This record gives sequence, C-alpha cells and structure tokens, in this order.
Amino acid sequence: MRTFLILFVFINFDRGHCTETRAQVLSITPKTQEQVDILKNVSTQYQTALWQPVSSQYIKEETEVHLFVPTNSSKIVKDLLQKHSITHEVLLPNANELIEMQMRNGSTDPRSGSTFYERYHTLEDIYDWTNRTFQDNPSKITVILIGSSYEKRPLYALKLSINNRPNKKAIWIDCGIHAREWISPAFCLWFVHHSLSFYGQNQEITNILNNMDVYILPVMNPDGYLYTWTTNRMWRKNRSVKKTSPCIGVDLNRNFDANWCTEGASSEPCSEIYCGAFPESEPEAQAVANFLREHKDSVQLYLTIHSYSQMLLFPYSCTLDEAENHKELLEMAKEAAQKIRRHYRSQYRYGAGAKTIYLAPGGSDDWVYNLGIKYSFTFELQDRGHYGFLLPPSEISKACNEALIAVKTIALKVLEKTQAQIRSP
Ligand SMILES: [Zn+2]
Repeated sequence: MRTFLILFVFINFDRGHCTETRAQVLSITPKTQEQVDILKNVSTQYQTALWQPVSSQYIKEETEVHLFVPTNSSKIVKDLLQKHSITHEVLLPNANELIEMQMRNGSTDPRSGSTFYERYHTLEDIYDWTNRTFQDNPSKITVILIGSSYEKRPLYALKLSINNRPNKKAIWIDCGIHAREWISPAFCLWFVHHSLSFYGQNQEITNILNNMDVYILPVMNPDGYLYTWTTNRMWRKNRSVKKTSPCIGVDLNRNFDANWCTEGASSEPCSEIYCGAFPESEPEAQAVANFLREHKDSVQLYLTIHSYSQMLLFPYSCTLDEAENHKELLEMAKEAAQKIRRHYRSQYRYGAGAKTIYLAPGGSDDWVYNLGIKYSFTFELQDRGHYGFLLPPSEISKACNEALIAVKTIALKVLEKTQAQIRSP
C-alpha cells in the first residue's frame, strides 16, 4: 500500500453542487471474478487501505471486503465501482471524525470524563507512562530494555513481579505488533494498571501474581505506531527501509521463523504481509525472539494482542497441522470465550489460527510454540467489524475487560497445570 496523508477535507465543490466526500469504510462483496479483479486493482493502485482481508491476494467471490477509502480517493474509487456495477455499503460514513475522536486525549480534552486508561495514547505518552509506572511502583515493576526498533526507538518491557520466589514461572504479553491496532497497546496499559490496582483485592489476579511474574511489552512496533499518529492511521507494518524497493515496512507478524514466508505471507516488499528478507530480519522481531529464547524455561504462557475480529487463537497458523496439545489449548480458549460471553455477552470465536482464519506463517505465536512454550495464544480484540481499527475510546474499557477475563482464565489454567506438574514426581 502506498503512503498517503490523511487529509481532513470534507467538502468538494463540483460545478456549483455541493458533494460531500469524506473518508469512509466501505463494505463490498464481489460477485464475479471480474469484480474480484477490479477490487484487487482498486485496493492496490489507489490510495486505500484494506481492513479485510489483510491483503488483496485474498479477495475472492462472495466474501465481504472492508476497504478504508480516504477523502482524496473517495470520488475516483466510487466512480470506478459504479462504472463496473459493483455495489457497496458504507460501513463507516465518518471515518475522519472517528480518527479525530481516537486522537483526542487528556491534553486536548481535559474535561472528558474518561480516565487515562480509557483513552488512546501517543508513543511519547506511553514512554512517559512506562517511566511513571516504574517510579510509582519500584518494588513491583522493573523496566527492561529488550532492544530497539528500526528507527532506534527503545523497546521497553515491564516486568511485574510481586515476590522473589525461587524458580518462578512467567507470562509474556506483547501488544502493538501491528501499528494500526490501537486497542492492543491500550490493553497492555490496562493490564498493568489492573494488576497493580487489584493485587490483594481480586482473588484471580492475586493468585496469578503470587505465583508468576508477567513481562509486558506495550508497543512492539513503536515506529509504526508513531506513524499511525502522525501520518497514516492505517499503517500496519514496521518502518524499515529497503535498498531494493521504494516500499517501506515488514509485517512483524510474518517475520518469525515458523514456516517463514510460505503461503499466507508475501515476499513482495509492497505487500501488507511482507515477510522481510529473512526470519528475524527486523530488529523488533529479533528483540522479542532473543528475550524469549533467553527466558524460555521460565515463560510458560505467551500472549500476543491484536485486533479486530474477536477471536482467541492458538497454534498453528503456519500450517493446517494440529498442535501436539491442541485439545488442551482448545479447552482453554473455549473456557475463556465462554466466560467473556457470560460476563459481557460478546461472541469470541476460538480455535487454531490456520483453520479459524487463514494460513499466516512467520507469526510470533507459532514460533514461540515451537521454541517450547506450549501455551501460546493470539487474541484478536473488539470489534467484529463495525468500527474495526477505529474503535472509539468509549469502547476501550469493555474491550480490555473482555481480554482481561480471557488472560486470567488462561493464566489460571496454566498455573494449575504447571503446579500439578511440579507436585507429581
Ligand atoms: Zn494484528
């Protein structure tokens, strides 16, 4: 996808008529192969961003496509669709307003009644928050520099540790691997805040933290995240520059060494699912992989947070083969999904990645699983496509509480299983 600036232009004057054009998200279901080809062309040749499917190669007949169309290409895209009799529905008529709403935070709107954790934050704010959280909780939080991004921004993981029991096990949670999935970093912050606030009060979080440390990486892709705040809200990849192509960025969740760059990834640098030059070619993926290699004996549970589509996924995504403890993982995901439904009436699908969505090789969850961390999950948070990546701040608390229930349910199961292992000779 080409880079474009989000222009806040709402009105075009056309021969004296006032035609409204604004950034929108369209839902289009191609009916014929010809329509599929035209849609592929529209989504690659014009300034648009595919929300669903993730890459134009997966557009097919009778399958719904969600396409973000910025103001400046709205007219040309709609004219093209009309010319070829492709009908569309407008999913989000007011994408610019939603983007503005997401960017409004404490400093620009101090009267909004929401708390810090019910808003989205800039990268700078998240770095400040990391520092402040450490300063306010020096006995519980350590900040670990695990590496730096392509543009040399620090990758800080927080270690949340309540006590120094020997041979303590751990959980790893990373957020923000894909830049435009803003609810993901918001969840990492939410999780830390919840843990610190409710330790000693909430039985589940107390039990988890008494027995396990938690590593939290709030923004795995800081360069991409910053770019979504400054330039292109729909950016997904990191920001690495290649000598051989004008296109920027690698899909970090295709850059791990798990059936790397096979079907479901692309070796084309302009693709949204570009796998990179070689496994762990990207400093962000390498930093996480190095840390987990060093801590693979203590880390029992790996969680990576994405959006949107409301799913709890586990290995494999890189092959249709079943994971060795498939049944166990399925049970855990099922229980978590049931609890979410009971508490919040939200439907979460669950299952092995490749069978539940599509083949996606080179993902962190599969790589971690093959490393020997047998409890590995990818969460896709809210919603199921209504707001998509533009989930309003008012929805943050529900989205995060749902994810929190799933994290607690699965973490407690892992704890049960690992403690049973310790007890049995
Ligand atoms: Zn993602």
